[in-house]
Amino acid sequence: MPDTEEHEIASLKRRRNAVILAHYYVHEEVQALADHIGDSYYLSKMANETDERTIVFCGVKFMGESAKIMNPQKTVLMPDMTADCPMAKMADLDRIDEVRAMYGDVSVVCYMNSTAQTKAKSDVCVTSSNALSIIKKLPNRHIYFVPDENLARYVAGHLPEKHFIFHDGFCHVHTSITKENVERAKAAQPGALVLAHPECKADVLEIADYIGSTSGIIDFATKSDELKFIICTEAGVFYELMKKNPNKNFYTVGHRQYCPSMKSITPGKVKACLENMRPEVVLEESLRVEALRALEAMHEMTE
Ligand code: SF4
Repeated sequence: MPDTEEHEIASLKRRRNAVILAHYYVHEEVQALADHIGDSYYLSKMANETDERTIVFCGVKFMGESAKIMNPQKTVLMPDMTADCPMAKMADLDRIDEVRAMYGDVSVVCYMNSTAQTKAKSDVCVTSSNALSIIKKLPNRHIYFVPDENLARYVAGHLPEKHFIFHDGFCHVHTSITKENVERAKAAQPGALVLAHPECKADVLEIADYIGSTSGIIDFATKSDELKFIICTEAGVFYELMKKNPNKNFYTVGHRQYCPSMKSITPGKVKACLENMRPEVVLEESLRVEALRALEAMHEMTE
């Protein structure tokens, strides 16, 4: 990124009283100009804790929406409003009503990667870093988890006391990582540990040495004495992995570990949104209030 653009963004940020939040999956030049970089739980927490009046959310739409749901008094800008997560729209709202009618004692748990409408119909929201601990604490035996099936099955495998009802949502980036590709990467890098995100398919998780959220993967690799890691999540995470571990080697599985939505955000769009103060996340107040319960429940149950 040219120095001048970086300085212009810094000065606009001061003028707009803005903070820049960036997900680990965005381009590294966007991560480089952020005040806070993290996974969706950490960024949601930062959005609540920051004092700035304007939040520039370098991530996909559900992240900006979640920041606005919890912080209606702040202006939430998205550098690219078309950056959306296809999985977020995969939950079926009518099916949630059907499942509630079918099971009296059910908790509807939505992944953070869901629309405001889905959050409004859910009891609690979770991320990949807190899903297991939150669902374990829920008093209900029946759990309807939307929309990601792989994460739901991974959590269900750790909670045999619960009865899970699954939905068939998925992340196209994580499900495109195949067991065959991971095995090929292992053969090319003997001794490398496989670190996988729970949005990956079950047969990939079976051969992983560690399964965890994006932050969990970074922490594991950073604390480990090992030097070689095969990373099964979106490749944007390599920026933080290499920053924290310049002496270690990280490998992809040699397949498409690239989220086009996350990668649509550029420094130029960050600058433009600060100049124009748009695109801005706007939500109907009734929807915002309904969706707030699930997010507040997540933050309360995590702390
Ligand atoms: S990596 Fe997958 S889950 Fe994350 S934003 Fe992209 S499509 Fe959605």
